[in-house]
Amino acid sequence: MFENLSDRLSGVFDRLTKQGALSADDVKTALREVRVALLEADVSLPVARSFIKAVEEKATGAAVTKSVTPGQQVVKIVHDELIEVLKGEGEPGTLKIDNAPAPILMVGLQGSGKTTTTGKLAKRLKDREGKKVLMASLDIYRPAAMDQLAVLGQQVGVDTLPIVKGENAVQIAKRAKQQAMLGGYDVYMLDTAGRLQIDDVLMKEVEDVRDVVSPRETLLVVDGLTGQVAVEVAEEFDGKIGISGVVLTRMDGDGRGGAALSMRAVTGKPIKFVGLGEKMDALETFEPERIAGRILGMGDIVALVEKAQETLEIEQAERMMKRFQKGQFNFNDLKMQMEQMLKMGGMEGMMSMMPGMGKMAKQVEDSGFDDKVIRQQIALINSMTKKERANPKLLQASRKKRIAKGAGMEVSDLNKLMKMQRQMGDMMKKMGKMGKGGMLKQAMR
Ligand code: GDP
Repeated sequence: MFENLSDRLSGVFDRLTKQGALSADDVKTALREVRVALLEADVSLPVARSFIKAVEEKATGAAVTKSVTPGQQVVKIVHDELIEVLKGEGEPGTLKIDNAPAPILMVGLQGSGKTTTTGKLAKRLKDREGKKVLMASLDIYRPAAMDQLAVLGQQVGVDTLPIVKGENAVQIAKRAKQQAMLGGYDVYMLDTAGRLQIDDVLMKEVEDVRDVVSPRETLLVVDGLTGQVAVEVAEEFDGKIGISGVVLTRMDGDGRGGAALSMRAVTGKPIKFVGLGEKMDALETFEPERIAGRILGMGDIVALVEKAQETLEIEQAERMMKRFQKGQFNFNDLKMQMEQMLKMGGMEGMMSMMPGMGKMAKQVEDSGFDDKVIRQQIALINSMTKKERANPKLLQASRKKRIAKGAGMEVSDLNKLMKMQRQMGDMMKKMGKMGKGGMLKQAMR
């Protein structure tokens, strides 16, 4: 039904050549497609817009990993950002239900799957957390709804409040609260009445119930297939009743999960669970990764990019290892090590991370080998030609003079650097020769 985003993108990016970094144009082209895909997945326009803007800022200039295309790289960035937005605060799948009996208010439109979800959640709390749960239907308009909950209760082995004809919703809620206290229940769940559309009477009734029981959780159940309508419903309920979380149902259908993204972005409320079928165990903890994959329909691309990045790092490390083992350690290697050192917080930062290095750190400090010295040495290396960097043996008197002068330093400084390069080279060689279990290899794991 939907054109897959990865298919859509691959057409565009086949034409783009591989480059070292994502250019602004690459990103723009890719994001045009992402935007269409988001809208097709039922993400609302303002949400799609602000989302794309955030991705654009992150993606422009990002490094493109070898063996993936810029398009694939953009998709990975989009994917990560999706997860970022979808991730709510707190552990997904957990509810605040300490202080027994804890009331949970279930709200939503008729047909959203509210009653089914009430049963599923009660079962989950009973089975997974060993809670004693009581369910009550407040749907005085549809006797069938009350019966439905009673049947579900029997099916999952959870008690339901006996039905008393003629009571209103608030009276039933009060009776449920009392019964929960007397009966030693941990949780009591109130399945409120739904309407086909939001109306004032419904809202007022739910408000009254809320005020009587002060729910620990107010969960809005919405049909995940209804897309933007679901988001409007969520806004309305949150504004009037105040919800603590959302359950998206029918996520087993072919909806593309865009509602989830809009929902998070618009209401800021966490999606706690997703319904994945009609059966009583078809309720799962909301997982941002799954929805992100679904919105983009490109789980394999993300895996590919991750793999490529990993492989690249391993390849680099292995190449370096092989060279060190052969005793090849030139100025490029030295420079890389020094830069790495600076990145890790300089000499001091590195020493402080290594156990037992306290004493040595003091010696290093005394020797005057600090970050400033490292920077000067990098400047010396920068003053060399490419050939000189790769082949330290080339450095004879006249070259040395030129290099030192270029870096604004003395030949004696360069001599120190050369000595260091030789010593480190020897050390690397020894370490490399320690075989498979060698220090260097272990350090690189
Ligand atoms: P309520 O009116 O909101 O209480 O809705 P119900 O709980 O009665 O559910 C309406 C219909 O949706 C029933 O046939 C349920 O079996 C079905 N349903 C509920 N949740 C899901 C779900 O996650 N996936 C699917 N496929 N069907 C669901």
